[in-house]
Amino acid sequence: MNKIDLQGIGMTSRRTRERLIGRLIEQGIDDPRVLEVMQELPRHLFIDEALAHRAYEDTALPIGYNQTISQPYIVAKMTETLLNGGTPERVLEIGTGSGYQTAVLACLVGRVFSVERIQPLQEKARQRLRQLGLRNVQFQHADGGFGWPEKGPFDAITCAAAPEQIPPELFEQLAIGGRMIIPVGGRVQELRLVVRTDEQSFDQQVLEGVKFVPMLSGSVR
Ligand code: SAH
Repeated sequence: MNKIDLQGIGMTSRRTRERLIGRLIEQGIDDPRVLEVMQELPRHLFIDEALAHRAYEDTALPIGYNQTISQPYIVAKMTETLLNGGTPERVLEIGTGSGYQTAVLACLVGRVFSVERIQPLQEKARQRLRQLGLRNVQFQHADGGFGWPEKGPFDAITCAAAPEQIPPELFEQLAIGGRMIIPVGGRVQELRLVVRTDEQSFDQQVLEGVKFVPMLSGSVR
């Protein structure tokens, strides 16, 4: 596990954070690496001060620009599913948002390549990760629907916004043996796990029903 630098960061009580971990365990999260990182990582840093008192509830919260920080259970579930295939070295994340999922991943994998279409969100996330001393992350301001071809192939791809259908670029940029976890759909969405079994073949499995923000095209400054 990569170390988080907690110096100078006001921490909420251990009990508050343990309660959240208890909720995750109740919902079936059992990877000790994921639970340990989520116990340590200060989620309140990723949320505006006015909402920070709700940071350890198991719920999505607004982060501005019509976007939300993902529900902790979903972050845990997606991370656990990716790690199930072994520790990925190179991970593509689409939809940096607050940077919370980015930070969880940065603690657990080799390198994270994170793409966000809204520049101010990306800038804030970059600052937060720097503050936490997490240096194995590269950010790009772009439409993540095209992946990040120069940095692929990836051992894992995770997506925090739902496309109607999985873009072909994401299949192409998945390494053989690699795993992609992605919400798919419109009003009704499902969380899918895609595993690339060889050059031409992909196994797909539906994990559960979910509600993510839509994947939008283009990028905004
Ligand atoms: N895991 C993040 C989720 C943020 S919400 C968190 O917990 O904070 C999803 C994010 O996906 C939003 O920030 C949104 O701007 C971004 N997004 C939507 N479509 C995108 C696209 N095509 N490319 C890159 N980012 C996108």
